[in-house]
Amino acid sequence: MTTLILDGSAVAKKTEAELATRVENLKAKSGGQTPALATILVGADPASATYVRMKQNACKRIGMESITVEMGAETTTEELLEKIQELNSNPNCHGILLQHPVPEQIDERACFDAIALEKDVDGVTCLGFGRMAMQEEAYGSATPQGIMRLLDAYDIPLSGKNAVVVGRSPILGKPMGMMLLNADATVTICHSRTQGLADIIKQADIVVGAVGRPEFIKAEWIKDGAIVVDAGYHPGGVGDIELAPLEGRVAALTPVPGGVGPMTINTLIFQCVAAGEKKISS
Ligand code: NAP
Repeated sequence: MTTLILDGSAVAKKTEAELATRVENLKAKSGGQTPALATILVGADPASATYVRMKQNACKRIGMESITVEMGAETTTEELLEKIQELNSNPNCHGILLQHPVPEQIDERACFDAIALEKDVDGVTCLGFGRMAMQEEAYGSATPQGIMRLLDAYDIPLSGKNAVVVGRSPILGKPMGMMLLNADATVTICHSRTQGLADIIKQADIVVGAVGRPEFIKAEWIKDGAIVVDAGYHPGGVGDIELAPLEGRVAALTPVPGGVGPMTINTLIFQCVAAGEKKISS
């Protein structure tokens, strides 16, 4: 069987060209107003700093502005909440990204939930999650929404399929399960207490790995012809799924790197352009 490679880099690149045109059109129509994404980085975690820089670069590539907020590792919940409120009230800020994880003294959930719904372009608020789950208008959590956009770009059928999501984090596994359910898949969400994981995965037409452990999901647990989505990324360029033995045996897979990662950033800017269009054209 020829395995279709779900090329997130290619889909993201194509979408960036479309987004650049939309930003240009919006500027032309509004006397130069430009969608702007505020990125908040708290502390000095090098991986987080890299992710934020990649997101700012993506803004630049499509002509969007970014507002850089960097706060020290000792920042308190109150200080961060104040900064978020300031950005909520800033008419020139259309989207807010609070880079996860924040230092442990901060109540991350409270800070995520302080982001105004219309600026929650990374899809991290409880309100946005609830609305998404109820199929009301909301920006989806960027990584699972990016996965849905990638599956859609390749016309992967989801209706009636058995989907198994391994991981239940608030920004990935949980919203992923809900999005697949909304797409009429039959969904099982697994986590660290799940028993018989290998047998559950063997039933899956679609497997999403969102565990955070290198190659934790073994190739032999995955059935022939499955659709394989790997959200993980670890040093050495491996994901959460043992992908190499699957080529030629499964119907489709996301490569690591170049699959889910680029779609996450692309979804963030895609949703920020939409937020900018809504605000600026209204
Ligand atoms: P997380 O918050 O650490 O969550 C990991 C999940 O895996 C938890 O729900 C945990 O279960 C589950 N888990 C841990 N050990 C398990 C086991 N032995 N069996 C079954 N489930 C187990 O991680 P995350 O933020 O969701 O990220 C998951 C992966 O995606 C990571 O590799 C991360 O690097 C990657 N990621 C990628 C992007 C991107 O843009 N590409 C964005 C975000 C994350 P419990 O809930 O029971 O603890």
